[in-house]
Amino acid sequence: MIPVTRPYLPDRRKLGAYLDGIYSRGWLTNNGPLVQLLTERLEEYLGVRNLLLVTNGTLALQIAYHAIGLVTPQASSVRRAVTTPFSFAATASSLKWEGVSPHFCDIDADSWCLDLACLTEIDGRDIHGVVPVHVFGNACDIEGIQSLAERWQAKVVYDGAHAFGVDYQGTSLLQHGDATTLSLHATKLFHSVEGGAVIFRDREDLQLARELINFGIGPTGELRGLGINAKLSELHAAMALCVLDDIANIMESREAIWCHYVLHLDGCVDLQQRHPQASNNYAYFPVAFRDSRSQHACRIALEAAGIMPRHYFHPSLDECGFYGASGEASRSRSLSSRILCLPIYPGLSLTTVERIADVVKCSVTEAVSE
Ligand SMILES: *Cc1c(COP(=O)(O)O)cnc(C)c1O
Repeated sequence: MIPVTRPYLPDRRKLGAYLDGIYSRGWLTNNGPLVQLLTERLEEYLGVRNLLLVTNGTLALQIAYHAIGLVTPQASSVRRAVTTPFSFAATASSLKWEGVSPHFCDIDADSWCLDLACLTEIDGRDIHGVVPVHVFGNACDIEGIQSLAERWQAKVVYDGAHAFGVDYQGTSLLQHGDATTLSLHATKLFHSVEGGAVIFRDREDLQLARELINFGIGPTGELRGLGINAKLSELHAAMALCVLDDIANIMESREAIWCHYVLHLDGCVDLQQRHPQASNNYAYFPVAFRDSRSQHACRIALEAAGIMPRHYFHPSLDECGFYGASGEASRSRSLSSRILCLPIYPGLSLTTVERIADVVKCSVTEAVSE
C-alpha cells in the first residue's frame, strides 16, 4: 500500500543522543535548551526573526490571534475575520473557537489562494482580521492583501502550515502579515511529531505570546494575565532538530518526485498555478480533474492499484454549518469536488511515481472516451 505521505523518521541514534541529554538534565519542558536551540536554528534556516515554538499549528493560530490583538478578552462586539474555505479545518475552527466569526471569500481558480477581486468587494467596515492560507505552499497575493488590510484597519495572520521554507522575492515568505503560523505535525514537510510556530512581525507581540503560551506568567514568574498552555516539549524539539539536519535531502527527494510527476502526467490533469515570485517547497502534489466524476473514477483506479491519494481539501469549509460563517464560495466548492493529492514523500521511488502517473493518465483518458 502506498500512502499519500509518510512521516519522516530521522536517524534513531542521533535522536537517542538528544534523549540522553534530556535524561541527564532532567529538563523536559518549559523553554528548555533544545527548544531554545531549535528556535535559533529555525530562525537562521528560514531567515526570520521573532519565532515562537508552540504545541501545534492550531494553537499557533489561536496564540497569534491573541498576541496581535485580533481577539482580546475584553472585546465586547463580535469580531469577524475573512478567510479562505479551501483549507484544512483548523484555519476556520481556530477562529470560531476564539469567538471570531469567519467570513469565507472565494479562491482564485488558478492559484487556489484567496482571490483579491473577491476580497476587494467585501465591505471591510466590520472586518477585524484576514487569515489567508498559502495553500499547498503557494504564496498569496501579499501586496494586495496588505493594502486591503490597511484600508480596513484589519490584522493579518497567514496560515503558513504548508509553506515551510518557501521564499518570496528572495526572502522568507513567512515574515509577512502581523504574524505567520507553521504546523510541525508529523505529516508536514518539516516536523516535531506534534508542534507549531508563530513568526511575529513585532517583537512586542512575540514577548506577549511567550507569556500567553505559559498560562500568562511573565518573565520574572509573576502571573500577569489570561493565558493558556501551548509550550513545546524538549522531546518534540529533539525530533525536530534531527529532522532539520536532513532538510536539504528531504527537499531534494521531494523535488525529484514532484518534477517526475509533472513530466509523466503529461498535462492530463490541471496543476496549481504557482506564484512566479515564490519558490516551491514541494510539500504536496495536488491535481485537479475536469469534474468530480473523473476525480472519483481516478480515485477508485488508484485504490485498486494499492495507492491511497487524499481528497484534500474536502469539503470546502463554506459547506460546513458549524463555523457560524457567512459567505459562499463556488470556485472553492468546485475545486474541492475534483481535487486529489497524490503520494509524495522521501523514499517514494520514481518508478512508483511513474506507475501512479500511468494510472491517473489511464483513468482520465477513459473518462474522456466514455
Ligand atoms: C496541518 C494544518 C493546520 C493545523 O496544524 P496542526 O499542527 O495539525 O494543529 C492548520 N492549517 C493548515 C492549512 C494545515 O494544513
